[in-house]
Amino acid sequence: MSPESADASVLLLYTGGTIGMTPERTNDLASPLRPGSRDEFAANLTRMVPRLGQRDRIHWELHTCPGVPPADSSDIDADHWIEMARYIRDQYDRWDGFVILHGSDTMAYTASALSFLLKNLAKPVVLTGSQLPLIDERTDACSNLANAIRIAAHKQGDVPLVPEVVICFGQFLLRGNRARKASTSNFTGFTSPNHPALGHLGERIEIDRRLIRRAPDPDLEPFTIDEVLERDVIDFTLFPGLPVKRLQALLADDSLRGCIIRTFGAGNVMNDPGIIGELDSAIRAGKIILNITQCSQGFVEMGLYQSSSRLLEIGVISGLDLTPEAALAKMLWALASYGPDEAREQIQINQRGEQSKDIFELRYRGADSGPTGRVHASAQPSGQYRKERLIRAILRIADLRFGDSEAASEFAVFVGLQARSTQRSRDDRHCAAVLKAPAREIIDITERIREFTSDTHEIAITLDSDPGQAFSFSAMYLMLICESNEE
Ligand code: ASP
Repeated sequence: MSPESADASVLLLYTGGTIGMTPERTNDLASPLRPGSRDEFAANLTRMVPRLGQRDRIHWELHTCPGVPPADSSDIDADHWIEMARYIRDQYDRWDGFVILHGSDTMAYTASALSFLLKNLAKPVVLTGSQLPLIDERTDACSNLANAIRIAAHKQGDVPLVPEVVICFGQFLLRGNRARKASTSNFTGFTSPNHPALGHLGERIEIDRRLIRRAPDPDLEPFTIDEVLERDVIDFTLFPGLPVKRLQALLADDSLRGCIIRTFGAGNVMNDPGIIGELDSAIRAGKIILNITQCSQGFVEMGLYQSSSRLLEIGVISGLDLTPEAALAKMLWALASYGPDEAREQIQINQRGEQSKDIFELRYRGADSGPTGRVHASAQPSGQYRKERLIRAILRIADLRFGDSEAASEFAVFVGLQARSTQRSRDDRHCAAVLKAPAREIIDITERIREFTSDTHEIAITLDSDPGQAFSFSAMYLMLICESNEE
């Protein structure tokens, strides 16, 4: 369809994958599949779906992206993601939407990475591929492609604008950074274990508008891309009986900047001081440790069991309900885009609909109470924080030490006092907890935060031991766990 007579325009970006594969030996259909070139794929498209887009009056063109030769998706890497983002930026104004033809094996990684690299996206970027090559007579490629192109074109009828990076595969339209490849062979291919499908693709394309992200106003929030990704990270699965020396060898590397640990259940690890010690040293050396679950569905909830409380105490951060693919992409993006403290902060906040909750982490500098036995500190929550969305507030005091006679010390935590306020009794309403030394280092202060703080003011924490009982700590962190504003 010529651009002049078309109602919508879509750029097809071919990166390889089964969809474009052909047998290594042309006359031997059973020989191993190799990625076809752009021209081979273009010829096959014309032969297999000669009327692609015609019914809906969609003009499309097939391109490859400079720096991304058609490949099995196992060979796609962070450089390719950046090249794809650049190409979309360069072509952005010319098209109503984009379809990326991609191997299904690492499609969820690419979709996740692009979701972070493309900022203020106001047009659809639809990844699709297939389980059987386009040239196979039983292929799923034709329907996947036809659905993808229709969603990318949007504009008419009952297909709304989906201004997101999505995966269109089999019967489902999924948010890209929520999707996982779930089957090596089933035509359904992908699932979205912690988020509902954005749409169902049957006789009709049915998209749930309530689940789609809001399109940014291009005048206020223009589309841009980030062009850097960190590489020095590792994604590591814990297993029962893990030798400490294995973890030590992994984390000792000075160039390593971040580690994803896939933990048991709701974020639990073995109660092995050696393992905890290695994680602790890595965090002290400035590495980010991100906890995600090995379960295919559900949340990390550190602090729920004793076995995960230690992780919270040493400063492991929670990946909540991130998929492993989104966790990895988010870490690569955040570590490259921000300094270490800010990266830590940004990883815990929902950025592109990839997680269902936000964690705002406030850091209070370490202090020594001296003989007054009292420390007052305040910190400002980020502008995105809304108290009305608060689910839980957890205070973590790192390296808490009492001067002497620990066993006798009593220790109270107050929320929302003025810096100059006088000594308060332990029954004061501002008192969140009274702890006996040696104190636990994580404290739930949700109710006091609800009652005595606001969105716009600094959150003040006062620690008050028995008069004369000196204490110190190296830092204090307040974790504000909130419902994300997209839920
Ligand atoms: N190995 C192929 C790839 O990921 C599988 C597929 O496309 O479905 O490129």
